[in-house]
Amino acid sequence: ATPTALLVGTGRGAQLGILIKGPEVLESTHRIDTVVLDKTGTVTTGRMELHDVHAAEGVDEKELLRYAGAVEHASEHPVARAVASGAEAATGAPLPVPESFENAPGLGVRGLVGGRAVLVGREQLLTEAGIDLPGELSAALAEAQARGRTAVAVAWDGVARGVLGVADAVKESSAEAVRELRALGLTPVLLTGDHRAVAEAVAAEVGIDEVRAEVLPQDKVAAVRELQAAGRTVAMVGDGVNDAAALAAADLGLAMGTGTDAAIEAGDLTLVRGDLRVAADAIRLSRRTLATIK
Ligand code: ADP
Ligand code: MG
Repeated sequence: ATPTALLVGTGRGAQLGILIKGPEVLESTHRIDTVVLDKTGTVTTGRMELHDVHAAEGVDEKELLRYAGAVEHASEHPVARAVASGAEAATGAPLPVPESFENAPGLGVRGLVGGRAVLVGREQLLTEAGIDLPGELSAALAEAQARGRTAVAVAWDGVARGVLGVADAVKESSAEAVRELRALGLTPVLLTGDHRAVAEAVAAEVGIDEVRAEVLPQDKVAAVRELQAAGRTVAMVGDGVNDAAALAAADLGLAMGTGTDAAIEAGDLTLVRGDLRVAADAIRLSRRTLATIK
């Protein structure tokens, strides 16, 4: 590889809105056959909003939102931001400050609010704490998921109190980006920690057939390695802290410039504007750059 040709490639990359760590990162790109796409913040906008509030019988809706919002206020997760700002808007009052707070990555949050132990997150977060969802709330959770919502349960003092549904929109350019990646001969795979029903709904909307859902943050890297073990050469596109290890493990890691510092540091390339179509540009560019120097 002549350094000059590679540098030309990286210069063109900057024009397209692609930052390349070093010319050597492009070496493996001609063999890439699979592109793993994180869902939240990569295929979707990541700007979630609170859409559904379902309080259990005997629970006041505003009280449900106040407790859930207070704990989520301490988290940076897109789901948390949606719950906290939705709660603030709906209750019309500042949220109480939790006495303590703990993140359970890929599951939700735990905190102490006004002396009450509050949990907000996936059903698994509650069941791990020995809290079962009553039939009424299980039904509300399933119903919200069937409509493509990321549904989370809320509990305090050992009892499930309600279900909240949040959602963001698929980015306008995502379906076209998937078409472009396919046109390059690449197979797209959607990878997410979210519920299967939500993942399937997003995949269908953008034209992805292969879905890996309900993957915990620490297992995203294993999902990439599994594809590699099956003989596939993998590019991974992601934005979150929970994508960093997978971005590093992939043959080519592409970080969304709109995402977290952890993802940007782990990636080989950064897509400055966070537009997924530029992922196809990046792969096209690196193939062309390598063809020039052959
Ligand atoms: P993704 O892979 O789509 O970026 P994550 O792995 O970060 O998603 O989260 C997976 C799931 O865990 C979310 O869809 C949500 O159900 C739950 N979750 C994670 N963090 C929170 C939180 N702060 N509050 C509520 N639920 C959460
Ligand atoms: Mg993400």
